Amino acid sequence: MRRIAVLTSGGDAPGMNAAVRAVVRSADFHGLETFGVRDGYAGLIEGRVEPLGARAVSGILHLGGTVLGTARSPAFRTTEGRRQALKHLDLFGIDGLVVIGGDGTFRGGDALSREGHIHVVGIPGTIDNDLIGTDFTLGFDTAVNTALESIDRIRDTAASHGRLFFIEVMGRHSGWLALYSALAGGATEVLVPERPTDVARIRERIRRSFALGKRFCLVVVAEGDDAGSAFEIAEAVAEGVDVDHRVTALGHVQRGGPPMMRDRVLGALLGDAAVAALIGGADRAMVGQRCGEVVHTPLERTWSTADRTPEDLLTLMDRLAR
Ligand code: ADP
Repeated sequence: MRRIAVLTSGGDAPGMNAAVRAVVRSADFHGLETFGVRDGYAGLIEGRVEPLGARAVSGILHLGGTVLGTARSPAFRTTEGRRQALKHLDLFGIDGLVVIGGDGTFRGGDALSREGHIHVVGIPGTIDNDLIGTDFTLGFDTAVNTALESIDRIRDTAASHGRLFFIEVMGRHSGWLALYSALAGGATEVLVPERPTDVARIRERIRRSFALGKRFCLVVVAEGDDAGSAFEIAEAVAEGVDVDHRVTALGHVQRGGPPMMRDRVLGALLGDAAVAALIGGADRAMVGQRCGEVVHTPLERTWSTADRTPEDLLTLMDRLAR
C-alpha cells in the first residue's frame, strides 16, 4: 500500500473533518501518500481527486460539516458508475480507500471493493448512530448536544408557562438521537421509530402527570415515528389534555456546528485506525470503538437492523419520567 484516498459521503456529520485530518496525518506518519476526493462518490466518478498533505488539513479539526464536500450519487449505485470510479482510482495509482459516512456509504464501498482491486475501510460518520460495530458514530454526540441546547431553552418556556411541548428531532429510521436527547433533557416521553406509538397511552400518561402536579411536560419525537410528525402527534395527544401545547421541529440546526470533544477524539482515533487497518491488509471493514477498544466489523454487517435503539434506556426513561 503506497497511496490511499479519503472521501466523505452521505449526510454530513460533525467530526468528519477530524477524521479526514487524522487519516491524512497518520498516513503521512506511515510514509503513505493521501488523496482527497471531492463530494463523495460523485467526485470519484468524475475524477475529482487531489493530493492532500499534512499541511492541507490544518485548521479543519474544529469545523463541522466536511471540507471535502459530500453528495448523493445515484450513478454510484450502478456498476457503470463504479467502473468509472475504479478507473480514476487506477489512474492515480490508489490502492486503499477510506470512506467516511453511514450505511449507504458502506454499501457503496462494499460494492466497489468487490468489483475492483481496491481495499476499502469505513469510518462511521452519521448523526443517527445507527451502525453496528461501534458504540457511537461520528457526529452523534455533537448532534445530541445541539438538540439538548434547544430542549433546555424550550424547557424554560414550558416551565414558565406550564405548557406541554412536543419537540421533533432528526431520525427517520433511528431513535438514538431522540432517546439520548430525551433522557438528557428530562423529557416525559420519547417516541422512536423502533417502538410502535400508542397515542392513547401517551395522552393518558401526560394527563396523569399533570393531575399529579407536574407543571409542564416535554415530549421528544423522532421525525420517523410511526404515528406521524410531531405536529400530527401533538394534535392527537392534546385533544384529551386540558393544557396549552406547542410544537417545535428542530430540523437542520442539529446537523452542523463545531464537533464536541467526543467527536473530535473519535475522529482522531478512527482516522488513525483506518490507516492502520489498510496497512494491515484489511478490506471491506469498518473501524469502530466498542467499550474503549478499536474493533473491525465487516462492512456488510454494519447496516444490519439487529442492533436497535437500546430497550434498557427506553425503560430507564419510563422509570425516571414521573
Ligand atoms: P449515508 O452514507 O449517510 O447512509 P446515503 O444513503 O445517501 O448516505 O448513501 C451515500 C451514497 O452511497 C449514495 O449517494 C450512493 O452514491 C451510495 N450508495 C448508497 N447505497 C448504495 C448501494 N446499495 N450500492 C451502491 N452505492 C450506494
